Amino acid sequence: MSTSGSPYPVYQSTCGWTDTPSLRRTHPRLKGAQTCDAVIIGAGYTGIAIAKQLASQMPELDIRILEAETIGSGSPGRNSGFVLEHAFTAASTATAGALYEHYKTTQDEMRATVFQGAYTPEARIFKGAATQRGEKKLVALAQLLEKSGQPFEWMGYDRMRSITGSRYYRAGLNLPGNSLVNPYALISNLAHSLQKQITLYEESPATRLSRGASDKWFIATPEGSLQAPMVFLANNAFATSLGIGNAYSVKIFTYAGVTPPLPPDLFAALAPEGHWGLLPAHRLGSTLRTTDDGRLLIRGFYGYEHEDNDSTRGYLEQSLFSRFPELRHYGLEKWWGGTTSLTANGAPLWGQFEKGLFASIGCNGVGILKGTLLGKQLANLATGQPSMDVQRLMGRPGWMPPEPIRHIGFNMVSAVERRLAGAER
Ligand SMILES: Cc1cc2nc3c(=O)[nH]c(=O)nc-3n(C[C@H](O)[C@H](O)[C@H](O)COP(=O)(O)OP(=O)(O)OC[C@H]3O[C@@H](n4cnc5c(N)ncnc54)[C@H](O)[C@@H]3O)c2cc1C
Repeated sequence: MSTSGSPYPVYQSTCGWTDTPSLRRTHPRLKGAQTCDAVIIGAGYTGIAIAKQLASQMPELDIRILEAETIGSGSPGRNSGFVLEHAFTAASTATAGALYEHYKTTQDEMRATVFQGAYTPEARIFKGAATQRGEKKLVALAQLLEKSGQPFEWMGYDRMRSITGSRYYRAGLNLPGNSLVNPYALISNLAHSLQKQITLYEESPATRLSRGASDKWFIATPEGSLQAPMVFLANNAFATSLGIGNAYSVKIFTYAGVTPPLPPDLFAALAPEGHWGLLPAHRLGSTLRTTDDGRLLIRGFYGYEHEDNDSTRGYLEQSLFSRFPELRHYGLEKWWGGTTSLTANGAPLWGQFEKGLFASIGCNGVGILKGTLLGKQLANLATGQPSMDVQRLMGRPGWMPPEPIRHIGFNMVSAVERRLAGAER
């Protein structure tokens, strides 16, 4: 089975971050029919944040989390590890500024509790532009950051070259405050930090969700079932297969690869001033970063609803070598795909959908902080606590036409965007 038609992720390859067996702790599978107070589907950043906030608001609740895979083997541990507190898109400068403050507080909380052993101290995170069009985008972004009170610093060609060792980039925007993490370590830390009344089940995918008897929701897994008055969908791109968000979310694959550990002198030439992470000026561009064990990671390339492993390596290597020709001798040691949930306008699908049924999906490719923030706010909503005005700050997701029009539309938009991205890819 592949992820394409499955109600939960089934990836073709493991990812480069998961080769850290010391972090692995096993959790049981759900077996038999059980009842509880709240069920969370998906142990990613969103699901774990929901569980932790519910437990701190209501310590008497019996909370269960169902995870389809083992912790961190899916998208929560497959990503590039940029923890981004800057708000790059928002309806207005005021909402961008407010979102930035929310993300910043969220990162501060994570830094104090779960960053230990997972983050790269003193890494520099920035946007990079390789083309004139990309540079124009950075100028527009700098204006938004300026007006919304988000810190940044313009960087010219020489500065970009002295940070990355590459001649590829003509300009950049330094973005202080953001972090680089090993995402597998981070999600493992988060799973270890769950309070006692939360039970986490691994390899226990929710395969069916329905309304059960006496106002309870019924969730089936391959070996058991749960009934609870509250259910939270935090399974992002896979929520649609449980019947939520079909008109608003598509499953998009994106890919990452890492070089082998590089010889120290070569690594030092690529990171003369220390660790760095580069975000592309165009959304279809390539993301690059260094890793603590002296590799370079590259992320790029998109697929609609299905995983494509055949062309991934060639595509990622081509982008890598155009920036760092000296890496031709090394190539990529490992490459992998992961899923994200994309909405038409980037807004999340968030809130209560029926009595006792809550969801937060639509990470749109940047979910470490966003998922954590939205998960916490969703638990606040469910327990009647004050919560952030998500729709005002982030908007509502736009409607998407059904298949096959949706797929055709996606192909057309991405063909145009690919051309616009040019050498940012
Ligand atoms: C290659 C790549 C690079 C990325 N880089 C970054 C980055 O640098 N920074 C960033 O912020 N974001 C990045 N992202 C996106 C990021 O991974 C997601 O936004 C983030 O993981 C979303 O968190 P989430 O908890 O909402 O959903 P997910 O992380 O998708 O977690 C959902 C969880 O639900 C589980 N699940 C799915 N279906 C079921 C089911 N039926 N039953 C039970 N469990 C289920 C999944 O196994 C998964 O563990 C990247 C993604 C990819 C693929």
